[in-house]
Parts: sequence; structure tokens; C-alpha cells
Amino acid sequence: MVTGIVLFGPPGAGKGTQSTLLKTKLSMAHISTGDLFRENMKKQTPLGLEARKYLDAGKLVPDSITIGMVEDVFKKLEGRSFVLDGFPRTAQQADALESLVKSNGFELKKAVFLDVPKGQLMGRLTGRRVCEKCGENYHIESKAPKQSGVCDKCGGKLIQRPDDREEVIATRLQAYEDSTKPLRDYYRQKGKYVEVNGVGETDDIFSRIQKAIS
Ligand code: AMP
Repeated sequence: MVTGIVLFGPPGAGKGTQSTLLKTKLSMAHISTGDLFRENMKKQTPLGLEARKYLDAGKLVPDSITIGMVEDVFKKLEGRSFVLDGFPRTAQQADALESLVKSNGFELKKAVFLDVPKGQLMGRLTGRRVCEKCGENYHIESKAPKQSGVCDKCGGKLIQRPDDREEVIATRLQAYEDSTKPLRDYYRQKGKYVEVNGVGETDDIFSRIQKAIS
């Protein structure tokens, strides 16, 4: 049976980093709605052009668009277990996920909340740099590349995501507080909620997640 987990938490909690580890170490399909929107923006698809208005402003993309996109990805899973990174972010998305999981005959095992103190998030996000070629993540202080502005892995150029500027981050944090944080209770009620301390070394956090989902 296809099983999956949700990885959620505030922007800057490390969802992307940890999902990438789940993908490489446990061969899970990594479904990041943020990445999917950015790919569509790059290719200038109709979905990407619509999504850009929201991403650039730090606002949530409307539920109908986001849910439809996940629905499409679910069709291509081919039996792999999955990690949802950044979805659901609203109660409506969470309900839609329940239905999607059921109608596809999948099972959602756990919703893992990556807990990082609010005071650390701004610094994590403003210092983040991303390789525009391969998507590898860096941080100007805690994970600096060997050569400034250049990706260690592929030599690509490191850029700052447009929504990692301070003024946009404030809007993203507010969207998290208003719409996503309440999902903790949603998953508590479903008996699927697990909390993982998201502070520390990447590998230690990964071990905590592994333990929480086993
Ligand atoms: P992320 O890469 O997860 O930080 O997401 C970047 C941006 O994509 C968010 O600030 C939203 O604009 C949009 N986004 C990603 N996932 C969702 C979602 N589940 N619902 C609505 N908007 C989303």
C-alpha cells in the first residue's frame, strides 16, 4: 500500500532539507508544493503565471489551484511512498488530502510538525541561498558554500529567493500563524500528530524524524 507523511511547520523550519533527506535515504517521493509552483513559474505555464502573484507577495496560493496540483502528482506516484512538504497549509487542503488519500487507496501515516522557535526563523530565511541550477540550499552563516555565491555541488549561481526578503517573510509568517499552525490540532484529533525538535544538526533532526515516523 502507498503510504505517506506530511511534514509541516513554519517557513524556515527546514522542511525542504529534511524532505530531501527522506527522498535520498528512504527513496520516498518528495512532493513540495512550493517547488512545484516555482518550476511552473520558471516554465511560465498558466499555473505558474497565476501562482507568481501569490508567491511574490508571500501569500498562500488559493486552495483550488493547490489541491488540483497535488491531485495530479498523486496520479504519478507509481507505488512509491511519499512525503508532502508544504502541503497541506490550510484546513481545506487538509480535508482535501484526506479525501484524496482515501480515493487513491493510500494511507497517511503521520503528520510531523517541525518545531523551531519563532525567533530563529527570520535569520534562517534571510540568510538562505539557493542554487538556481540544482536547487541545493545554503545559508550564508550556518551552511556557507566553499566559494561565495557558487554551488559546491554543481557550480551553479546561488540566489536569494524573492520571497526570502524580510518584508515578504513577515507576510509568510502571518499566513503560517493564521492558516497552517491550526493544523496541529487537526492532526492531533486524527491521532496522527508527532512533533520533532527542528533545532540542531541536520542529521540529528533527520534521526528524530525517522524515529517519529517508524
Ligand atoms: P515554500 O517553498 O514551501 O516555502 O512555499 C513557497 C510559497 O509557495 C508559499 O509562500 C506560498 O505562496 C506557496 N505555497 C506553497 N505551498 C502552498 C500551499 N500548500 N498552499 C498555498 N500556497 C502554497
